[in-house]
Amino acid sequence: MSSSRPVEILCTVCGADTIVVRSPIYDGFKKTGEMLKCATCGHEYASENQVPFKQNSRPGVFDASDESTKISVFHESERGKTCCYCRHYVVNPFTQRCGLHFGSVEATDSCEKFTVADDPEKKPDG
Ligand SMILES: [Zn+2]
Repeated sequence: MSSSRPVEILCTVCGADTIVVRSPIYDGFKKTGEMLKCATCGHEYASENQVPFKQNSRPGVFDASDESTKISVFHESERGKTCCYCRHYVVNPFTQRCGLHFGSVEATDSCEKFTVADDPEKKPDG
């Protein structure tokens, strides 16, 4: 349950900078698919490919090689007590919050209670 699929969209219908709402479609008790809707205007996208995710439309100022270089020069201490690296950081479709104080946070916030998250590359033992 840790897959973090992108939710941020720039709706092509209402133009809002918003999120896509995924709701399961059931045929009886069987899940047959997923409905993808604009959270703002309720426009239904036919498929994942139709959804105007923000990360697909961001300007091409960063390229992948550029980013990986930047990440590799960061040390633990330098990336700091940033909420997005914290194990208490919780993202849900509507907000980002801190699991400790349950207040809204930004990914770029820093926090005194910061606890480094488990390495996301590492698969949990199952
Ligand atoms: Zn919309």
